[in-house]
Amino acid sequence: MWRISRPDAMDVLKDKNMVKALSNYFEIMLNRKLSRSKVAFMIEASGIDEDSGDIDDLWDEHERIRNEFHKIYDDEISLKDTDKKPAFSYLDLKIEIANRIFSDCYFCERRCHVDRNVGVGFCGVGDSKIASEFIHVGEEAPLVPSHTIFFAGCTFECVYCQNWDISQRPEVGMSLDEDKLAKIIDRKRMEGSRNVNFVGGDPTPNLLYILKTMRLTEENIPVVWNSNFYMSHETMKLLDGFVDLFLTDFKYGPGECAERLSGIPKYWDIVTRNHKMAKNAGDMIIRHLVLPNHVECCSKPLIKWIYENLGEETVINIMGQYRPVYRAGEYEEIARFPNDKELYGAIDYANDLGLINVML
Ligand code: SF4
Repeated sequence: MWRISRPDAMDVLKDKNMVKALSNYFEIMLNRKLSRSKVAFMIEASGIDEDSGDIDDLWDEHERIRNEFHKIYDDEISLKDTDKKPAFSYLDLKIEIANRIFSDCYFCERRCHVDRNVGVGFCGVGDSKIASEFIHVGEEAPLVPSHTIFFAGCTFECVYCQNWDISQRPEVGMSLDEDKLAKIIDRKRMEGSRNVNFVGGDPTPNLLYILKTMRLTEENIPVVWNSNFYMSHETMKLLDGFVDLFLTDFKYGPGECAERLSGIPKYWDIVTRNHKMAKNAGDMIIRHLVLPNHVECCSKPLIKWIYENLGEETVINIMGQYRPVYRAGEYEEIARFPNDKELYGAIDYANDLGLINVML
């Protein structure tokens, strides 16, 4: 059915610029290359007592492997090597580190340092709750059909949140054991999903659960990290060697809009840092939702930054779907839909700069 409703999802496979920009993703999607999570499960992590090891020792071992991972991933591992199953893998090491972070939480740059076994921090997420999961045919063409898993709760408090009914209500949704979700992911892949797409709210508070789940999957499937990109530096390192495609939500420019409309400290510094790290860790599609009255302060500066720092081939989706929902009516500047002048002003600006993979 999706081939009828989304013919562009097939056409994109013939778009040379897009295929080049997302080359690893497409190879994994077509099952011609292993996903990073599968490769991480095949690499032995040595010299660590995972029960009593000091977290600094765990990080030392993680960084030793991370420094070698890209060469291993590009040169040495092939589809026929999948029977390699070390007693303690690089993926197990990531899970062990995430387990330590969970009890002193700094998955995102809020750095609440709360033990989430017994409490919650800013995001309100304790155990992971799934608000919904389904095959999504409304995502970007390279992703469709996408097995999208929506988690409840978020590290942001955007006054106009388009998903506020789950992002601002971390208690909604259902708890699902990791092995059950892994089986669902495998089944959806067998039925034709191109990827598994972790989103919310935001996936960041759920990293431990996501790592454990993907360790239990059997199919080779690209992992999509669909996020606001406010992850901590440590979380970015854990995602390197696990995520195949970063689907980023780049919202604001360097001014005070992020603090005022989403309650986010140091937004620009953190989100630009994480985009630079993601560029070296996997393929990337950047989303930018055009807000009314925010083209000059937000859209144009962030598009310029993308061009200058991530390159002309960066895939960017400039979106016009903004609706003034949730508490947007309390803020006059965003209490309407964006107009054509704003939307096409941002798109034309990206094209005029020289970005060659601008999606509409
Ligand atoms: S993920 Fe949640 S609890 Fe952890 S640091 Fe971020 S906001 Fe705080």
